[in-house]
Amino acid sequence: MDIAGINQINQWVGAGVIALGSILWAEIVRDLRHWLAHVWPWLMPKHTLHHRLFRRDLSVVDEQLYRESQWHHDVPEAVTMMVAGIPWVILLGWGSWLNGVAATAGIVYSASFWISGMLRGWGLALETDITHQPGPFPVPPSQWHVNRTYHWRHHFDDTNAYFCGTLTFVDRIMGTSLSLKGKRVAVTGASGTLGRALLKHLHRQGAKVIALSSQADPIQIEVNGQPQAVETLQWQVGQEGSLAELLERVDILVLNHGVNVHGARDAAAIQQSYAVNTFSSWRLMELFFQTVRSNPEVATKEVWVNTSEAEVSPAFSPLYELSKRALGDLVTLRRLDAPCVVRKLILGPFKSNLNPIGVMSGDWVAAQILAQAKRDCRNIIVTINPFTYLFLPLKELAVGTYFRLFSHSLPHPEAPASNSDSSGVPQGDSTSVPQGDGILG
Ligand SMILES: [Zn+2]
Ligand SMILES: [Zn+2]
Repeated sequence: MDIAGINQINQWVGAGVIALGSILWAEIVRDLRHWLAHVWPWLMPKHTLHHRLFRRDLSVVDEQLYRESQWHHDVPEAVTMMVAGIPWVILLGWGSWLNGVAATAGIVYSASFWISGMLRGWGLALETDITHQPGPFPVPPSQWHVNRTYHWRHHFDDTNAYFCGTLTFVDRIMGTSLSLKGKRVAVTGASGTLGRALLKHLHRQGAKVIALSSQADPIQIEVNGQPQAVETLQWQVGQEGSLAELLERVDILVLNHGVNVHGARDAAAIQQSYAVNTFSSWRLMELFFQTVRSNPEVATKEVWVNTSEAEVSPAFSPLYELSKRALGDLVTLRRLDAPCVVRKLILGPFKSNLNPIGVMSGDWVAAQILAQAKRDCRNIIVTINPFTYLFLPLKELAVGTYFRLFSHSLPHPEAPASNSDSSGVPQGDSTSVPQGDGILG
């Protein structure tokens, strides 16, 4: 091919990138305008119409209000998106007519929302847009695009979060992809270094925290420099079923208990490692899934599992690695069909009573975990080991794809759970699992 041909291809590729970029720009403008409508008093009353429009099941409150809100909310929003595209057309069209035409893609795209908004306003098209349609939520909130489950949370979980309308990245940059405000969060391994730090930071974010511990004493966290006791529930590994009732009223379950037998390799150490690190967390995760039935539960419930960096890096403790890797793989397998969001916490070694030479502090690790959760990271990596950031996503992709290809998908439990008493979750043998100093936070 001659040089002129290559140049022509380059021009068309460039125009394609500009066209896509202009559509992306329109979406960024939509989301920023929406965020502004929640902080700027001039825009607020018009946007409030949109919020008054829907009941919790997303049915429309009133036909007249519906049409009115199109004129006050949807139509001006589309006009803003169109106007914001004009400078790009002028700027890019200055040197190249092709680029100028490509930049109009975002305006044409925005115009489709303008037209459908007006049609609805005139009462000609009464079907609501896809993010506001009523009916059961088939899947949890999406990570990259806004589905109904995602947007429902903006209306009924926290109106100061989840601002995005089509793509989620503006929320992910602003840290508004997950609101912890008012969420009931239960943390296992609560007496450990990380458990306490998580409780403290969750409390600071406005969550109502519940400590789950093998010890009876109430766990204390530092609030404004003063120690404050938090709601603490005593439980033992192997007796996961005893927490079933509590899990019904928990929004986010953080599975953070674990044991490190270090250099041991006898039968008892193998039994203990798998019982605590693998099967106890797996059982609690399954029990928690059974509490996810209604639309609000699908939208807001989450499980976070501390599978640790041992999933991809040596922890210099073979049984710790084996049992944590087994848990990590089970989470990867199970979350293919999970009824709610499941996050993994992939943490490097941090300073604790059991590991005095750790570089990261538990406090810092906990803050990083919450910062990433609010940016909707499903694999939360906090470590100083650069290889983990490289290998974990690759491993997750490869293993997840393999599991997807060679196992069968489960039907999503859209109907309410039929029999709540037969859980199908095997209970462990509570007597054979020692508790004590070895339990890590
Ligand atoms: Zn809003
Ligand atoms: Zn809405």
